[in-house]
Amino acid sequence: MRKISIDRIEIIPIQIRLNEPFVISKGALTHARNTIIKIWCTEGIYGTGECCPYRSIHGETQTGTVAFARDLAKALIGENPFEIHRHVALMDRMIVGNASVKCAFDMALYDLVSKLYGIPLYQYLQGDRTKKIFTDNTVGLLCVEDMVERAVKFKEMGFPVLKVKLGERPSTKDIQRMEAIRLAVGDDIDLRIDANQGWNYHEAKAALTAMSHLRIQHCEEPIRAGNITDQARLNRISPIPIMADETVFNHKDAMEVIQMHAADMFNIKLGKSGGICNAMKVAAIAQAADMYCQVGSFSECRLGISALVHFDMAWDNIIYHDLDSPLMLSEDPVIGGLEYGPGWEVTVPDTPGHGADFDKTFLKRFERIEID
Ligand SMILES: [Mg+2]
Repeated sequence: MRKISIDRIEIIPIQIRLNEPFVISKGALTHARNTIIKIWCTEGIYGTGECCPYRSIHGETQTGTVAFARDLAKALIGENPFEIHRHVALMDRMIVGNASVKCAFDMALYDLVSKLYGIPLYQYLQGDRTKKIFTDNTVGLLCVEDMVERAVKFKEMGFPVLKVKLGERPSTKDIQRMEAIRLAVGDDIDLRIDANQGWNYHEAKAALTAMSHLRIQHCEEPIRAGNITDQARLNRISPIPIMADETVFNHKDAMEVIQMHAADMFNIKLGKSGGICNAMKVAAIAQAADMYCQVGSFSECRLGISALVHFDMAWDNIIYHDLDSPLMLSEDPVIGGLEYGPGWEVTVPDTPGHGADFDKTFLKRFERIEID
């Protein structure tokens, strides 16, 4: 086989307006400012990755991802694309953290390599074509009436699960929100909540105890990320299972949370783990601990979420799916990739790679940096 190497990398920062501002306890987001990475190899084939840096969660910005992507791209030119673990290790040696930009490169490499093998990404990851995946839809943090209105609308649209953003202090308002939503949507729909670090131990204890009768699947990130001690204390007494999100970026965090009994579940995001390579390790550690996981995202387009669905198909302990970020964007610049079907079932095509690509006309609107 002829030696295949990476010979060109494109870096494209894009911007897409959200349908409406998306409000969580950490603030409101009006636009997705994502960075696209295209990795070309000597065979004339390319893989595409996407990242969505959230400054309040990653500490990364779009400007920063573009700047560092130049360095990463230069280091990867001439390398064999198949050696993904070595490239991930190289990125980790070059800079600590910066999981978002690393994710875009990792995703592009997995897309490229599975295309070179001529198989869908889920097959490359030994995934299960028959796995059934249904997405929730998310209600942002607003006044009670606006949240109830959206919850009812999403139920009428047929979503099987609603995820509700909370995290206001005092948490009495959040209790009112959930009581009103459960009353409005009835009992025949699942609810999950996400406080995005907004409570402290006492507010979280009060809220979760008061909500115990509302049949809530789990609560993501109730208190400040990294406060493992209080999260473990909360996890011992909470009537609602605690899911670690911002606390668990990668496999090392996952290990610590398991050792400290600080959560019962993980929310895995490629944008936190630095891509698929390390997300596989989080899922594997969870499986060893007999834990269920969710997959979630930031404000990626259908391309990033397509890659996430292929990853999802590889793990039977991922049973919750928060794949709604493309639905919040005012335009869909992606061709191919995942489709939303009846009942909001999410499927991906059997084409090589993750099956998604950006519309070329859309990309022409933005600056393009080429490294070769
Ligand atoms: Mg979350």
